[in-house]
Amino acid sequence: MECGIECLKGCKKFAVLGGTFDPIHYGHIMAGKAVMDNTDVEKVLFLPSGDPPHKQGKNITKGAMRGKMTCLALEGYDDFVYSSMEIERTGRTYTIDTVKELKEKIGKDSEFYFVTGADAILLIETWKNYKELLGLCNFIAVTRPGYDNKSFKGFVSKLKKEYGCAIETIEIPEVDISSSEIRQKVEDGINISGLVPEKVEEYIIENGLYK
Ligand code: ATP
Ligand code: MG
Repeated sequence: MECGIECLKGCKKFAVLGGTFDPIHYGHIMAGKAVMDNTDVEKVLFLPSGDPPHKQGKNITKGAMRGKMTCLALEGYDDFVYSSMEIERTGRTYTIDTVKELKEKIGKDSEFYFVTGADAILLIETWKNYKELLGLCNFIAVTRPGYDNKSFKGFVSKLKKEYGCAIETIEIPEVDISSSEIRQKVEDGINISGLVPEKVEEYIIENGLYK
């Protein structure tokens, strides 16, 4: 893993995988790997959100801790990059602002895709300035267990027709894991090994998260 968006300079194409990552799990890592394997991107940037607007009112782990877990999870993956740019931003974080900041900081010579899972793309019309956002960068939407592939693809076609945007869909190997499920398991005292990398599991235990 490399650290900081400066590492992306010189990449012709990269992908951005944003998320709350509370905690990061093997589903996120699989999405990153599948994007590396199925597209011509050179790197995948993992971007934990700061203060996610759609999770207002919920009890979210501090950004620094979610960031730390993300770094621990990405150890050993050469094509993955970590950045704390959203965590460090004060106030609510919106993807549109992040996309604009990335464009400004990385420059015109590189192109990027914003990656979401099926559940997230289905909600895209609730995101801040989504019409502008859909025009600003290309998207990749990956399949997710629990979301019917056919209706997900149908929805993406509808979006493309309606907004003239570019969204590629990728069918990825099913990893039926969610952060919510992990938090619930920890609260219930159920072992989470196999759902998150070992170092992330240790961090959760050592810091008493999700209890
Ligand atoms: P929570 O249950 O707290 O919502 P989550 O598991 O959905 O957590 P997020 O951080 O919300 O994780 O997701 C970040 C991004 O990763 C989203 O675009 C989501 O669709 C995608 N994603 C998460 N888990 C998977 C998975 N198992 N397979 C494919 N995509 C996933
Ligand atoms: Mg989610």
